[in-house]
Amino acid sequence: MATPDGPDATPGFDTSQPTIARVYDALLGGKDNFAADREGAATYLKYVPDAGRCAIENRAALVKGVQYLARTAGIDQFLDIGSGLPTQKNTHQAAQEVNPRAKVVYVDVDPIVLAHGRALLATDDSTIVVTADLRDPQGILDNKEITDHLDFTRPIALMIVGIHMHFHDDEKPDEWVRTLMNALPSGSYLFITDFVDTGEPLQKAMEQAGLESLGNGWIRTPERIEQHFLGLPLVPPGLDFLARWFPEDPDAEVPAAEDLQPYQRILMAGIAKKN
Ligand code: SAM
Repeated sequence: MATPDGPDATPGFDTSQPTIARVYDALLGGKDNFAADREGAATYLKYVPDAGRCAIENRAALVKGVQYLARTAGIDQFLDIGSGLPTQKNTHQAAQEVNPRAKVVYVDVDPIVLAHGRALLATDDSTIVVTADLRDPQGILDNKEITDHLDFTRPIALMIVGIHMHFHDDEKPDEWVRTLMNALPSGSYLFITDFVDTGEPLQKAMEQAGLESLGNGWIRTPERIEQHFLGLPLVPPGLDFLARWFPEDPDAEVPAAEDLQPYQRILMAGIAKKN
């Protein structure tokens, strides 16, 4: 079979530059990436040899969060922004395992996500994929495909998982999220993961890898990440490293933060509820 950058390369995509979605796919061991993306992934691995494991733990946290939202919180509508390329277990699969009627909208700025997502979802009426930009939240709220699919009078889980790091604070990413949350009714949730800065060299190395390969990928203090939640109360266990974060079992015995591997202290997750 031809590789994506071989003779069957999808027309219409600039494959000469790495994109976040495709570099992440390469780190996860996926096949929907091109030579420039694999170079980007190699840069990550040079600085953070366990960068692939970070990506895998982020996907595991995504599944844990969706299971909590679908099962414990009873959410049946998901707006997953910056969803990424389809991988092993995606939001709609995690949600529909709990509630087969759960509806999911995937939004990503990279059109390759739409191209690959459509094929995956051809037989699933509960899930759609839309190309749109988080930086234009009103455009997302005005998108008829989205408003036809989700009922904005009922609670929705907004997922901004693994995206904030790609925007500098100067761009005010929290304001885009605020516009979206303001449009959701009470009972809705906000689910975020982000790169953290607690002063460790490997966290800084992750930032360096992102800046070198993609031109973005900033780390933030836990206090700054908490601000992403716009003052909404976090559900237990609050904001924590992915390997310590079990929203369905917040009292679970978890390793002390200092006993985690350094690569396990690069990302944190949290879910907040709009009351
Ligand atoms: N959410 C998935 C996860 O955590 O496994 C994928 C995370 S991946 C690191 C970041 C995704 O955000 C990429 O697919 C990228 O294309 C997408 N993205 C970046 N900027 C975006 C924007 N302005 N609007 C929507 N999606 C964006």
